[in-house]
Amino acid sequence: PSETGRVLSIQSHTVQGYVGNKSAVFPLQLLGFDVDPINSVQFSNHTGYPTFRGQVLDGQQLWDLIEGLEANELLYYTHLLTGYIGSVSFLNTILQVAEKLRSINPGLTYVCDPVLGDEGKLYVPAELVAVYREKVVPVASMLTPNQFEAEQLTGFRITTERNGLEACNVLHAAGPSKVVITSAHIDGNLLLIGSHQKIKDVPPEQFKIVMPKIPAYFTGTGDLMTALLLGWSNKYPDNLEKAAELAVSSLQAVLQRTVNDYQCTGFDLTSSSLEIRLIQSQDDIRNPKATSELQLG
Ligand code: ADP
Ligand code: PLP
Ligand code: ZN
Repeated sequence: PSETGRVLSIQSHTVQGYVGNKSAVFPLQLLGFDVDPINSVQFSNHTGYPTFRGQVLDGQQLWDLIEGLEANELLYYTHLLTGYIGSVSFLNTILQVAEKLRSINPGLTYVCDPVLGDEGKLYVPAELVAVYREKVVPVASMLTPNQFEAEQLTGFRITTERNGLEACNVLHAAGPSKVVITSAHIDGNLLLIGSHQKIKDVPPEQFKIVMPKIPAYFTGTGDLMTALLLGWSNKYPDNLEKAAELAVSSLQAVLQRTVNDYQCTGFDLTSSSLEIRLIQSQDDIRNPKATSELQLG
């Protein structure tokens, strides 16, 4: 196995634009990972546009691919990465995949973005919440919910930094040693809240990063964030704060470039059909500037 690792990434594919695997695979490759994508859906474009068309993979079809890999002894992975999952049957198959990969590599890191919704609204069937809570969270190594998802998974309302950190503690107790709430709107600020429980029964190391809010609506940023957190926390396994700072730095550069490009064309930034300028930002992904430099510059 390579020094950085081999990731099985089960996420959406869009023909045009950057969400799901289209948003995660390229950055992970830039950071030196071998990435094997399984496309859980193939859509023409992301769901922020007026319409989309395409196909959905079912649990049996996912398992078929896994069996194909297994038949050739190709199931050694260092990381499993999952994002948006649209049905209970597909999510149950993901659990089987995680178990199978761990039987081959007990050290497998499962990075799970528990995509449920945003801004108070679910965008998956409601019965997925209980499956995530009861079965998926317990087997995840790192969890990257947004504020709404952390609330759904813990039953907490997150209105202060303190309840954000408490929600992380509840999630640690359920399984994952690393938890990053990728965005939380608290007291007018946009916060990332991170927590790493290095040793069981010892309080976790916790931190927050205040992020500049950009007045635009982006799609695919959560998927990019989770991929970068996987990448940098593999490089800095004992320093989640550093990993998160590097990821945030790349995100800000990508989003700033996106906004600048669209502003040149007079596009409405609050329309939900923006595409992030991922490819154009490859230098900012490979070599993110430290946050302190960003604040100065
Ligand atoms: P999701 O799409 O899963 O809800 P988030 O909203 O948490 O994901 O976004 C992931 C990351 O993208 C955040 O941590 C932040 O760095 C960045 N981001 C997304 N939208 C904005 C925004 N409007 N302003 C600044 N940063 C943003
Ligand atoms: N996958 C598909 C097909 C989507 O359309 C979207 C959002 O529209 C996502 C995943 C998730 O994107 P985000 O990273 O913004 O949560
Ligand atoms: Zn998300």
